[in-house]
Amino acid sequence: MSAKIIDGKAIAQTIRSEIADEVRLLSQNHAKVPGLAVVIVGNRKDSQSYVNMKRKACAEVGIKSFDIDLPEQVSEPELIAKVHELNANPEVHGILVQLPLPKHINEENVLSEISIEKDVDGFHPLNIGKLAMKGRDPLFQPCTPKGCLELLSRSGISIKGKKAVVVGRSNIVGLPVSLLLLKADATISIVHSRTTDPESIIREADIVIAAAGQAMMIKGDWIKPGAAVIDVGTNAVDDPSKKSGYRLVGDVDFHEVSKVAGWITPVPGGVGPMTVAMLLRNTLDGAKRVIGQ
Ligand code: NDP
Repeated sequence: MSAKIIDGKAIAQTIRSEIADEVRLLSQNHAKVPGLAVVIVGNRKDSQSYVNMKRKACAEVGIKSFDIDLPEQVSEPELIAKVHELNANPEVHGILVQLPLPKHINEENVLSEISIEKDVDGFHPLNIGKLAMKGRDPLFQPCTPKGCLELLSRSGISIKGKKAVVVGRSNIVGLPVSLLLLKADATISIVHSRTTDPESIIREADIVIAAAGQAMMIKGDWIKPGAAVIDVGTNAVDDPSKKSGYRLVGDVDFHEVSKVAGWITPVPGGVGPMTVAMLLRNTLDGAKRVIGQ
């Protein structure tokens, strides 16, 4: 094995303790507690576990969490009314609506009602638009993409002038991470499901960000020796040896790629913990902006 493992869990823990220190200072010096509203609709088990994780993480760093649990049958106007109420609440500095929403609710309609000053997920079209424009900065950067760049910078991997390839072009990961890399002066290529010969494009990359949702798609001989590989993919594959019957793997064939790459993130324990840490960071930054810090 030649690649250095980028330990996302440890880096996220460091960031969380930095955030806890800042939250403490904010409450000592300004009598302000950052607040995050986490809205969940319905009873999806996976969504509930993500939401519980986010609420627990808030409590650990001293961020006040506002728990909004709405029934599956809630109507779109009712959900939007709740978002408006949270927009108007001065104790709430960030609003997160857990996705996916039930089929009868249009996600875009709901997300675009979140005030951009409280859009800690960074998914509001105005925040994404500012991310794409030269000389403009969004109020918030989306959490998973921001976490990927933080992993690179805290591992001492420079981006400026490097060739970066992003695998995937979704609104929540692939596209925004490409825009962040471009803002950081990388030369970017985006590979997607219609790309012909993705291997040859990926093989040129100094930095690979994999976010395709395809288990172990990226093989060792697709990687330039010494490249930094950030694996966002989180895919469940059958594993009868586990009690649950499955295990999580990335989009990268870790066993093969770790022999070629210079750096690699594991799955789990790479990007996942960073997403939550960046959500806390964005909430704290939202609160600091309100009090002019
Ligand atoms: P989406 O399904 O929304 O997007 C997948 C993207 O990958 C699409 O752009 C698609 O192309 C592209 N793609 C699909 N198959 C291939 C292929 N064979 N070759 C090249 N590109 C391909 O997924 P998300 O962006 O939401 O998530 C991606 C992965 O990241 C998932 O495994 C998800 O679970 C994980 N994830 C992890 C997070 C974390 O915190 N660790 C957070 C968010 C996501 P096209 O546009 O042409 O369809």
